[in-house]
Amino acid sequence: MYKELADLLLPEVKKDVSYYEELYKPRDLKEGEVVTRFAPSPTGFVHLGSLYVTMINRIFTNTNGGVFFLRIEDTDKKREVENGIEGILEALKDYNILPDEGAINESEEKGEYGPYKQSDRKEIYQTYVKYLIEQGKAYPCFCHEEDLEKLREEQEKLKVRTGYYRSFAKCRNLSIEEIKQKIQSGEKYIIRLKSPGDYDRKIKIKDGIKGELEFPENDQDVVILKSDGLPTYHFAHAIDDHLMRTTHVIRGDEWVSSIPLHVQLFTMLGFKVPKYIHVAPIMKEEEGNKRKLSKRKDPEAAVSYYTQQGIPVQAVKEYLYNLANSNFEQWRRDNQDKDISEFEFKINKMSASGALFDHVKLLDVSKNVIARMSAEEVYQLGLEWAKKYDNELATLMDEYKDYTINLLNIERTGKKVRKDIAKWSDLRDVLEYMYDEIFFNKDFEYVYQNITDKDEIANILKQYIEIYDVNDDKDTWFNKIKELAESLGYAREVKEYKANPEQYKGHVGDVSMVIRVALTSKQMTPDLYELLKNLGKEKIQRRFEKALK
Ligand code: GLU
Repeated sequence: MYKELADLLLPEVKKDVSYYEELYKPRDLKEGEVVTRFAPSPTGFVHLGSLYVTMINRIFTNTNGGVFFLRIEDTDKKREVENGIEGILEALKDYNILPDEGAINESEEKGEYGPYKQSDRKEIYQTYVKYLIEQGKAYPCFCHEEDLEKLREEQEKLKVRTGYYRSFAKCRNLSIEEIKQKIQSGEKYIIRLKSPGDYDRKIKIKDGIKGELEFPENDQDVVILKSDGLPTYHFAHAIDDHLMRTTHVIRGDEWVSSIPLHVQLFTMLGFKVPKYIHVAPIMKEEEGNKRKLSKRKDPEAAVSYYTQQGIPVQAVKEYLYNLANSNFEQWRRDNQDKDISEFEFKINKMSASGALFDHVKLLDVSKNVIARMSAEEVYQLGLEWAKKYDNELATLMDEYKDYTINLLNIERTGKKVRKDIAKWSDLRDVLEYMYDEIFFNKDFEYVYQNITDKDEIANILKQYIEIYDVNDDKDTWFNKIKELAESLGYAREVKEYKANPEQYKGHVGDVSMVIRVALTSKQMTPDLYELLKNLGKEKIQRRFEKALK
């Protein structure tokens, strides 16, 4: 009778499950090799948390060998957006987290275990649904939203668990005659699992991060096939991860509570249960409370945010490593020159509760990442960013390429490496005053710190331009400033000034500050000697003139 029911419900399904079992043979894996996957919905939005989990999948697969594939979970047609796949692929490409199989653009894919887009797998799901119906393990349900609403109210009144289970599962025991009648009169239906579970019995499972977990068995007759003929997430998960031969399901821990159902589905279908690894979400602290980083509330939840801000991919990645394995930070300190891939990442060292997102820390990581880059690399990546987000800067960087690289090269090596760039948008601050096109078109308030007398400032600048020689080496250059300072009644050395402050008008630092501010409008800049040299005498003079106006 179940066979008859199955044919009645899914007449167009002609294949048998053995067809697919044969088609998608177990993979030829070497001992210890794994199969993992990233299974996003194409909503066009890539959450930092998804990137995090995906990165972990990729690293885990790289470490163990095997296959990491991309599956597009587009069975929820309401959530889908146009070109949603492109957005995902772009993020994966930017972050160099490339799948070995799956979608390569909106319409093409690679790999032997496809289709990798769930909406193209309808027939496969329906074959397995039919298989379950044939065995009396699934059934059609004709309940409407209102019926379920009523059921919920009734259960609340009775103070029992809500849901569609056991005696509350009204359509569970319909006779084939009743079903036929309903179908003939055009009633819509969905397919539910006939759960054999007992809520009073427990299942145990070992999660790769959370360790031993125990749950009541699932006894809910969950929906497995929706009225549009597409499966629910749960059912598709079981079918796809079985047929794609996934060994390790590494996913966000919002799915932990579904473990009993998933184990039940795999078991009922006769599949081997994969290993589960549930990654705790990235959290955010708000008014002393922790909550998940939210797509709705937090701009930094979007991976695109980092691109816009100009935080280099490498920095975001290193930051995520920090969140995942807390010993990464020390490793990075000890191994400044190594590639991140050399770090021995351990999934079981991840914390079972969510890591806290810290923007300041991210920028700090980023500063260090950028500090390790060559001037050329900073230039290239910065320019790429500026071309999209700061046109004026991009034009100048492009026009004055060598000059800009030279500027970026100041204090890039040696004992004290500059760390004034945390994101590419900082480049404007770091560079703009060195381009005459911007410098001479802006009005500044020049703040010279200790020396405030206008005539004194004019005097310093006038005398300084006389003695400045672009060919001086650094010692000669600095000696000249010291001599100038001394001749004007300032101490040559800060020490001397501190010993006898009443004897001097100030010290050499005050005099260099005047030069620095007149030259750049800023009190803090990279090495003054280098800045002067890069500008050259003529430009220096013009800048001094502007300052004196
Ligand atoms: N499509 C699901 C999601 O985006 C996938 C979860 C999983 O990795 O199984 O949350």
